Amino acid sequence: MTNPILPGATLGVLGSGQLGRMFAIAARRLGYGVHVYSPEVDTPAGQVADREFAAAYDDLEQLAEFARSVDVVTFEFENVPAEVTDCIQKHCPVHPSGSVLAIAQNRIREKSTLRDAGLAVPAFREVTSVEQLHAAVSELGTPSVVKTASSGYDGKGQAVIHDPGQVDEIWASLATDQAILEQFVDFDCELSVVGARNALGEFVHYGPFRNSHTDHILDVTVCPSGLPGDVNERAIDVARRVFECLDVVGVLCVELFVTNDGRILINEIAPRPHNSGHLTIDAHKTCQFEQQVRAICGLPLGNAGQLADAAMANVLGDVWGESEPRWSALLASDVKLHLYGKAEARPGRKMGHITALADSIEDADRNVRAARESLLNR
Ligand code: AMP
Repeated sequence: MTNPILPGATLGVLGSGQLGRMFAIAARRLGYGVHVYSPEVDTPAGQVADREFAAAYDDLEQLAEFARSVDVVTFEFENVPAEVTDCIQKHCPVHPSGSVLAIAQNRIREKSTLRDAGLAVPAFREVTSVEQLHAAVSELGTPSVVKTASSGYDGKGQAVIHDPGQVDEIWASLATDQAILEQFVDFDCELSVVGARNALGEFVHYGPFRNSHTDHILDVTVCPSGLPGDVNERAIDVARRVFECLDVVGVLCVELFVTNDGRILINEIAPRPHNSGHLTIDAHKTCQFEQQVRAICGLPLGNAGQLADAAMANVLGDVWGESEPRWSALLASDVKLHLYGKAEARPGRKMGHITALADSIEDADRNVRAARESLLNR
């Protein structure tokens, strides 16, 4: 076990979106410096960092300079090639490790690894051609879901096949040479468990969070889940096993389906803080971003206890419409607003989120939706 990286040191984050921004805010509060690396400038994370490296992810020279300028590197954007982690590792530690990243980047590798570790995932087939997709659809039946093996997010790069007659068109639209076909899961609800683990193997978790999506994008999260205790316990146990089998150091989110017949299946894993965990900033004693700092620095993990029932609603670019949202109306209500500093609002783009605390998840859910509604110019 190496010595902990203490406040005063500098932490590096690859990627510069809102996850990096909230990580940087947590790190700076603890007295760390933060350097961010991404191809863009004036980014959500760069705006609050000490230094913003703007270079391509495959610029190994700039990456090496970035790595030499920090004491440890973590991610908020995990779709970087293996050469990136290899290059950084020559200069400083990287958490989570390149091997965890490689598994999370590819849906075939991810589902195979989890299945081989004895964890339950939806039935799936690897497909690399339209002929294989036809064969897989006749094996798994319809409806089924086809997804590109890599680079998909928020429902991008995936389609539901309702009828074998759609296969040719859907395969062409994916424009990929590797995909996964999954059985369509008739789920009762979607949960996620965010956890953190340090190099000593200490583990803390939040949730499960209960998530609802609109157009494949996370819409509202509530915590606690409101589900029976044994469902929550099983979800947490699955997450703990994922951390152990992948030997994760850092923060990771396990997204789960609870099926109508009570089974818990893993949908996917994200080796970083997660959108569903944003409510931990206001609703928990230690938020997911501070846990990321603590875990990658080899420090004791923080108390993940919850302070009140909570709900979080995403604020997408759609809210902007013709004019600026009505911030004063929202700020007059008892909710917390988090905006990510993005200059351009586009439909579907995550611009911020709102968190409400209440005596019950029903009240928190109602209040957070009403607050978001109040932003609209009517
Ligand atoms: P993903 O990009 O894999 O997280 O999928 C985005 C969303 O699509 C999930 O949150 C689910 O709502 C839905 N979805 C993904 N895979 C399946 C599946 N095998 N069965 C049913 N719904 C799915």
